[in-house]
Amino acid sequence: MNKLLLRQVQKYLIDKEEFSPELNKVLSVISESYDHYEKDRKMLEHSIELSSNELVELNNKLKKESEKLIEAQSIANLGSWEWDVINDKLYWSDELYRIFEIDKNAFKATYQDYFSFIHPDDKAYANSSVLKCFKDHLPFSFESRIITGKGVLKILYAQGKVSLNDKGEVIKLTGIGQDITDRKQSELALQNAHRQMQTLFENIEEVFFSVDMVNYQVLQMSFACEKVYGRQRQDFFERPNLWYEIVLEEDKKIIDENNTAMNAGKSFSQEYRIQYNENTIRWLETKITPTLNKEGKLIRIDGVTSDISKRREAEEIMKANNDELKKTNSELDKFVYSVSHDLRAPLTSVLGIIDLTEMKTQEELTKKHLHLIKKSVTKLDGFISDILDYSRNARVEIRKDEIHFDEILEEITDNLKYMNGADSKVDLQIKINNGVQFKSDRSRLNIILNNLISNAIRYHNPKLENPYVNITVDVSSDEVLIAINDNGIGISKEFHQKVFEMFYRVSENSVGSGLGLYIVKETVEKLKGKITVESEVGKGTSFNISIPNNI
Ligand code: ADP
Repeated sequence: MNKLLLRQVQKYLIDKEEFSPELNKVLSVISESYDHYEKDRKMLEHSIELSSNELVELNNKLKKESEKLIEAQSIANLGSWEWDVINDKLYWSDELYRIFEIDKNAFKATYQDYFSFIHPDDKAYANSSVLKCFKDHLPFSFESRIITGKGVLKILYAQGKVSLNDKGEVIKLTGIGQDITDRKQSELALQNAHRQMQTLFENIEEVFFSVDMVNYQVLQMSFACEKVYGRQRQDFFERPNLWYEIVLEEDKKIIDENNTAMNAGKSFSQEYRIQYNENTIRWLETKITPTLNKEGKLIRIDGVTSDISKRREAEEIMKANNDELKKTNSELDKFVYSVSHDLRAPLTSVLGIIDLTEMKTQEELTKKHLHLIKKSVTKLDGFISDILDYSRNARVEIRKDEIHFDEILEEITDNLKYMNGADSKVDLQIKINNGVQFKSDRSRLNIILNNLISNAIRYHNPKLENPYVNITVDVSSDEVLIAINDNGIGISKEFHQKVFEMFYRVSENSVGSGLGLYIVKETVEKLKGKITVESEVGKGTSFNISIPNNI
């Protein structure tokens, strides 16, 4: 018998053996029920225990999922909502509160309350979207501006759908709200940039183009092509080779020659002429940047073409002017040369007659006058000789003579020794280091050295006991370095560059024409050399020259 039943029965009866057979029968049926009951109870207990474990697990899972959901909502700036339409009660997820920047307690959570945050200009549109959904039961979505609890303007994307009861009445709306302000702003910036690019593309004077070189198709061609090429834009898309067809036959080779560079992926630029229309030819310039694929095959070119007709016209005018100027210059040079040359002959005669008369006359006054005339005529002759030097330098081709500096310098110093009169005190010292052969233009070197040495003698310091001029020459296989130093009157620093100017003389006491150093500089530059000056008033002057060896 079931133990529980037995315990119950024994509370009333002393001994089990005392049961009557009838009672025993009844009790055995009851005992069976007790057994069943106990079995069921145990099973129930077991299943309760099981389900409660599952419940705890499920609960944990749900908690985790909900945390994930919150995190996902925060990352996506996206919140969820539910609107109990019957009671006008809104449920918002935490993220929506964050987006709207409002406190849960400060929000009454009704439709009207939510609506108060929508920008006044967007209210009508937002409301009609929701109302429409009530009517046709279809999902809705719209973008609207909102003004958050902190007064910040944001753009909100809202999406929702209805739930109906058995009678087909709307009882609930559920959906999401997403803050898309950043995305919208980027989209706007992109649109602006695109619009600006488009404006540029449509209005710029140059033609921008891109060509797919695999299928030989024009991908883009800016509107300026109509002005620059004088052909319809559409024509270029239909006939990608059109631009080449209108190039003048004789200029096509300019373009063909660049094909190798283009296929090698090198950028280049080309200038050519096109037959703009029946009567007009235009000069164009095209700059091209090719693109190769990984295998080194040309797949695309991008380029810019501009009309350079005006520039070419100006260049041609300039060239013509230049040629004209060169011609005039050369004629002028020839004129100066022949006039100077012709003037020297009568001057030489005048000097001869003066010498003759000086010898014959005994009159002191005539001698004095003759001396003055001779001085002026000599000065005039020196001036003409300078002009001849200048003219020669400009006109005559550069020669490559073998130069022996000792010979040249000896000749020059011999001629100049007595330029200050027979009692000249200026000591001329020459030092030459010429182990290497040197080639240059002999007559030009003569002009340079003659001028510099004569200046060094002319502008010596008369107060000094030992005025000197040191000339050093250092020849190498590349160049010759020549230094002419004197301890003369010197030149103030402010005039160091000016002395090389045409007709510039430091003071009225200067005796020459003011042409000497100008001619020196021109001649040195003609020989592709350089000249510098170092000088200090009262101490002396040093001119340093370098001239390339034309060996
Ligand atoms: P100029 O015919 O007057 O000598 P240059 O062109 O040869 O003309 O020289 C320009 C000026 O530079 C001279 O007037 C002179 O004042 C100054 N000058 C040139 N060489 C020397 C020098 N060695 N020492 C001092 N002054 C010099």
